[in-house]
Amino acid sequence: MQLKQLPRDFELARPVLQTIERAGYEAYFVGGSVRDTILGKSIHDVDIATSAYPDEIKHLFKRTVDTGIEHGTVMILDHGTGYETTTFRSESTYTDFRRPDQVTFVRSLAEDLKRRDFTINALAMRENGEVIDLFDGLSDLRNRRIRAVGDPQERFHEDALRMMRAVRFASQLDFEIVPATEKAMADHAALLAKIAVERIQVELLKLLMGQTPQRGLTSLLTTQLWRYCPDFEHQETALTQLTQRLTHGVSCEVTAWAVLGLSFGLDHDQTTTFLKHWKTSNQVATDVQAVMTAARILQTRTLDAWELYRCGASRVKLANEAAVILGAADRADSLVQDVAALPIQQKREVALTGKDLMQAGIQPGPQLGQLLAALERQVVTGQVVNHKDALLTQALALANSK
Ligand code: ATP
Ligand code: MG
Repeated sequence: MQLKQLPRDFELARPVLQTIERAGYEAYFVGGSVRDTILGKSIHDVDIATSAYPDEIKHLFKRTVDTGIEHGTVMILDHGTGYETTTFRSESTYTDFRRPDQVTFVRSLAEDLKRRDFTINALAMRENGEVIDLFDGLSDLRNRRIRAVGDPQERFHEDALRMMRAVRFASQLDFEIVPATEKAMADHAALLAKIAVERIQVELLKLLMGQTPQRGLTSLLTTQLWRYCPDFEHQETALTQLTQRLTHGVSCEVTAWAVLGLSFGLDHDQTTTFLKHWKTSNQVATDVQAVMTAARILQTRTLDAWELYRCGASRVKLANEAAVILGAADRADSLVQDVAALPIQQKREVALTGKDLMQAGIQPGPQLGQLLAALERQVVTGQVVNHKDALLTQALALANSK
């Protein structure tokens, strides 16, 4: 197969491959960008594999950075954006079911492609668009299939993360995992416990954000992989229900966690623990809690002004998205209007500051903070207009009534 027209990102990278080839080495585009180009999808990163060793690459270009030299990866900066180039390698021994103990640089493309996870990810492409297909990846791409390269039992035993990658690609691409590969996943599911949660997280999120999460979740359930995901152990029923409800991917990470938390019926504290076990960032955890709070309400009614304000404009859309997935009416349009109509969107928009209050004779201390909080709420709910004079009058009335 020869691609006539290459995406712009590949065109821009061609000089890198040409330079390597002129020096007598081989160089190919590899990985997801080759797969996605053949599928007619847009690409997001260009990976280059080469027979040249890292030192040899560094001699061929003026500006390089050792981004992962021990794995054979060098970043080439001579041609605008950086290009990651990785020396062909074979990965020999795996003793802990994750990452090889040792990488060996090799000169053979076939050796390099053999270590890759799935046939659709084991394609290589020359700079002129010619596709090298040693494992029938093109046929699997045409038939929309995910198939391990070589013996699937061995491949998942070597690296258990590949099982999560399989379910994630099933969702992202709307592909079927072939029976022998899925059987090997079922046989090795327990090895997922050996994999760092951060790496499982990446694949789970890509699954939930993929075009057909139903496919990925169904496979996660049938292979029993779900049992080895943190805090999923009592959630088989919830996951099965979610499989029915997730007719398309979620828009972002925050919605993904919120949908899981709501499906699992987690309260605030349980959600905190859940997100901690999945090692999400603090910012994501804060956003997820706010989205879940709003989405719980949206399952029965719309949000009042204060609830909208607390949730915030950007998160309200995610709360609606999560609620709709769980069966609520879609209130996107009215919620966007309601948020825009709030008197203020943020605390700093309150037209009276602590300094103003002190100048008016209120002593610094907890009472001042409470007054400001009360004013903020009254502004949001329309009990007082957001003008300095009106707020000051209201503040003094509140202070005197205590
Ligand atoms: P994406 O579009 O999400 O980037 P990708 O297929 O490019 O998908 P990467 O994680 O970027 O996935 O990996 C690049 C390539 O490296 C893959 O296409 C595959 O050939 C190989 N690869 C990645 N992870 C593994 C693994 N765990 N085992 C074997 N090969 C892998
Ligand atoms: Mg990639």
